[in-house]
Amino acid sequence: ETLSDEFTSFLDSGIYRLPGIKAVFLDPVRLLNLSYTRYSISASGYYCRTFDSLGKGKRTNIEAGDSYVSKKKKRKRKRRLPEDLNEQELVAEKRHQDVRPFLLKAHESLLGTNELLLFLPNLVKDEKFSFDGRGLEQSFIELGRVWQAPLYEISMNIEGNSKEVQEEGLPNVDSSGRTVAPLFNNLISNKASIDMDAEFLNRTYILPRKSCFHTSDLRQIHDLIPGSSDQGFNLIVIDPPWENGSAYQKAVYPTLPNRYFLYLPIKQLAHTEGALVVLWMTNRTKLRAFVEQELFPAWGVTDIRTYYWLKIKPDGSLLSDLDLIHHKPYEYLLLGYVNKEKIEPHFIQNFQDIQIFISIPGAYSRKPPLGKLLVDHLPGSKPSRCIELFARELVAEWTSWGNEPLCFQDCRYFMER
Ligand code: SAM
Repeated sequence: ETLSDEFTSFLDSGIYRLPGIKAVFLDPVRLLNLSYTRYSISASGYYCRTFDSLGKGKRTNIEAGDSYVSKKKKRKRKRRLPEDLNEQELVAEKRHQDVRPFLLKAHESLLGTNELLLFLPNLVKDEKFSFDGRGLEQSFIELGRVWQAPLYEISMNIEGNSKEVQEEGLPNVDSSGRTVAPLFNNLISNKASIDMDAEFLNRTYILPRKSCFHTSDLRQIHDLIPGSSDQGFNLIVIDPPWENGSAYQKAVYPTLPNRYFLYLPIKQLAHTEGALVVLWMTNRTKLRAFVEQELFPAWGVTDIRTYYWLKIKPDGSLLSDLDLIHHKPYEYLLLGYVNKEKIEPHFIQNFQDIQIFISIPGAYSRKPPLGKLLVDHLPGSKPSRCIELFARELVAEWTSWGNEPLCFQDCRYFMER
C-alpha cells in the first residue's frame, strides 16, 4: 500500500497532522532525535517502565501514582455519580464535559488513520537495541545538596570537534582534548554543531549540539537572567514540581508549594520582542484558579490558551477511561504571551483556541517535547531563543535549567547511529 505524504513527513518530523480536526499525533522519540547527530535516543529506553508487556498492551506504572491506585479503588471511583461531587469537582467536571467532544473527535480521527495506527507498536521499540534498565542512576538532586557540591566537575570530550570549539574559544582544554568545569551552579554549553560526550562521576552523558544547561536550585535561577534585555527568551516552557497528593511522585523528585513559583523571574527571562510562556498543569481545580488569578498576573502573562495532551497506548486505545472523575487520560497546559504590546495583534489572534496533541507517554512521566509544534507561534526574530525550566533533558539550541537537567542524557538512553 502507498503511504500518504503526511505519513512520509511524519517519519522525519515526528508530527502527524490528523485529518478533520485541529489535532496532531506526536512521536516524542523522533522529535527528540532531531537534536542529535552522532547518537539517537532508544525507544525502548524512552518507554522502559511504561508498559510491562507491550504485546498485550498491558499497563503498569505509566504515570506517577498510577499503578499505586488499586483496582478496587478505581472501580469505586467509576461508580461515583455527579450528585456526589463537591464544588471543586463540579467545576472540573464541567470543564471536562466541555472538552470531551473535541478529545473524542481527535481520538476518532487517529483511529481512522490506518497507516499511523498500524505503525504505533513500532514506535515503542528499537530495531536492534534493547534497553537494559539495570544499574543505578546518578542522583543530581542529592549531590547538589551536599557541601562538596561546588567541587564536582564535569569533563567534556571535545576531541571530535576541537577545531570548531576552539574557534568558539572554550577555556581550559587539556592535551587530551578534554575540558573540565564545575557541574553545579554553572552554565555549561556544547557550542559545537555535533553531539559531545561528557563524563561525570564515571558516567557518560550526551550533550546535543548548541545546547546549554544550568544545574541548580530555584535560588540560583537568577543567574540565567540575560545581561541585556534583547538577549531574553522567546519561548519559556515550564513544568513545575507542583505539589499533589501522590505519595509516589514525592519519591521521584521534590515538590514545591505554589507560592514559590510566584518568584520565578519570567518577566526578566522574556525577550523584549515578546515571549510565549507554556505552563504544564495538573488536573486540580484549585491550581487553575491560582494560575489564572495570581501566577500569570505576577509573571505578566496574558492571552491565555489551553492545549490538551491526550495519552494513548501502543494499540491506539486511550490510556484510561475518559470519564473517570479523578483520573483522566489527558493533561493540559496553559499558554500565554509576555510583552504582548511588542507583538502584532493578528499574530496572537492566529493562535488557535483548542489544540490537542496525542502521544504514547514515556516512562517517569516525561512530557513530550513541544518546541517544534510551537515554532510558528513564537514572537520575535529568528532563530528563536528557547528555555525549559525544571528540565530533565537537553534539546539542541535550547537552554535547560533545573536541579537535574542531565537526568535523561545518561548514555544508557542512547544508541550510536
Ligand atoms: N518536564 C520534565 C520532564 O518531562 O521530564 C519533568 C519536570 S518535573 C515535573 C519537575 C522537576 O523540577 C524535577 O526534575 C525536580 O527535581 C525539579 N525540582 C524540584 N524542586 C526544585 C528546585 N527547588 N530547584 C530546581 N529544580 C527543582
